[in-house]
Amino acid sequence: MTDMDINTHKLHPTNPRTGESAGSVPLTSVDSIDDVVARSRAALETWGSLTHQERRPHLKALLKTTLKNEDRIADVLISETGKSKSLAHLEVIAALTAIDLYSRKAAKMLKRRKGSSWPMVGTKGWTEYRPLGVAAVITPWNYPFYLSMLSTIQAIAAGCTVVLKPSEVTPLSGELVARLASEAGLPSDVIQVVHGAGDVGAALVASDVDVIAFTGSTAAGKKIAAVAAETLTPVILELGGKDAMIVLDDANVKRAAIGAVAISMLNAGQTCVAVERVYVMDGVYDEFLARTESLVRKLSIDTGTSNDVGPFISPTQQDIVASQVNDALAKGAKVVVGGETHSTKHGTWYAPTLLTDVDHTMTVMRDETFGPVLPIMRVSTEEEALALANDSPLGLHGSVWSKSKSRAERVASQMTTGTVAINDHGINFFYPTIELGGTGESGLGSHMGDTGLKNFSVARSITEARTLPTTQLLGVKFPFRVSPRRWKLLAKALFWWR
Ligand code: NAD
Repeated sequence: MTDMDINTHKLHPTNPRTGESAGSVPLTSVDSIDDVVARSRAALETWGSLTHQERRPHLKALLKTTLKNEDRIADVLISETGKSKSLAHLEVIAALTAIDLYSRKAAKMLKRRKGSSWPMVGTKGWTEYRPLGVAAVITPWNYPFYLSMLSTIQAIAAGCTVVLKPSEVTPLSGELVARLASEAGLPSDVIQVVHGAGDVGAALVASDVDVIAFTGSTAAGKKIAAVAAETLTPVILELGGKDAMIVLDDANVKRAAIGAVAISMLNAGQTCVAVERVYVMDGVYDEFLARTESLVRKLSIDTGTSNDVGPFISPTQQDIVASQVNDALAKGAKVVVGGETHSTKHGTWYAPTLLTDVDHTMTVMRDETFGPVLPIMRVSTEEEALALANDSPLGLHGSVWSKSKSRAERVASQMTTGTVAINDHGINFFYPTIELGGTGESGLGSHMGDTGLKNFSVARSITEARTLPTTQLLGVKFPFRVSPRRWKLLAKALFWWR
């Protein structure tokens, strides 16, 4: 939770578990955003002109500094999100993985790419990747250090400078990204941080930035895309999800049940790639339900220091989850476990919950829940499971569980989400070597793999005449007076033998 104090011009995040103050950061005034971006542009002159080899020691130093400060980062994360110590450390590892990958591989990923000169004989052509410029990076509160570091490291590895706007709920985790960079000796203003709510983010989006990387809700993402369209500023959007898990009748049910419970309850369900709905085939439904019920019964809300289901980031989250469960109950769903809210003077929780008898008229099966709720639906066929899984405007991630590799791959290939996991769920999110991005209302573009760097680059193609310019090979008066007969002869010569 965060208090925005207009008198002191500060953000005061508090621990949503204990109510304790996590610290404070100065609020950035909307009027100062242009100056901040101008400083980033000045820093770009040097940073953007370095070679990958010259930038690499800086990125390696950031990796080492981040590793050295693991406990400090985890403490900040715990203090402003209330997440468990274990999850906080997992988030640091995810960030380290991304820094390590992009510091080692940036040169290879953005290597000059030669194009085939056919049929432009006597020429040479290549694509090279140049830094796009100043990047605006806007991030949410659920994995605030990892997501802030992920887009930032990609941007700076590609040679951009960054203005980071972390969530107003978790400003300290974002602030830490810039502090660690400074402690690692990165030149000043390569990474700057601005603080505030949506108005500060909106001012940054409307400023003179060259690319926008946004991770957050679909609603805010649509607003950002509309503003970016005015200036045709490239925008990468990583938005909300409604992940489906399909359990086929030949699945390893024990593993599937553990996967469903673990990833739906992780971070109290406040994970963009959480399991939000499960479709289980008749043949294994009873066993799957019995196993998930027994696992969910072992979990409890964690108001102390256990690693179970922690608090919501804000009371609003609890309201959303309670209203979705109540809507489902009113329409005939059954609570197998949980279904209760819990609140203290400082924080809000929701009991780990298992729902059955759900259908797609219920908001819990359609809207992002972002809470520790696992709704399970029985299906008769693989086709029915697929149709229901694909029946969503959100397409972030999904999973298929089956012992048959070929069957699982066939079903996975028919899911319409941007990413799919087989016999696992959500790991793509911690897998920076391959692309991750949502379809439909879950986003635009992809933010991992090579694409994660190319998002912050402009692909420039360069061609060079090695003998005579092509324009002259076909005749001095080319192309104005080349007869159609000569074009037809050329077309035949080039393609008749293909
Ligand atoms: P949010 O959209 O409310 O806020 C995200 C960030 O955008 C914050 O920094 C906020 O201040 C800023 N913002 C809000 N309105 C803005 C505007 N008009 N212009 C510019 N900036 C604006 O999201 P949240 O509540 O912080 O995060 C939860 C959401 O993020 C969930 O929907 C979750 O699924 C999504 N998410 C997606 C991914 C992914 O990789 N796809 C990862 C994590 C979270």
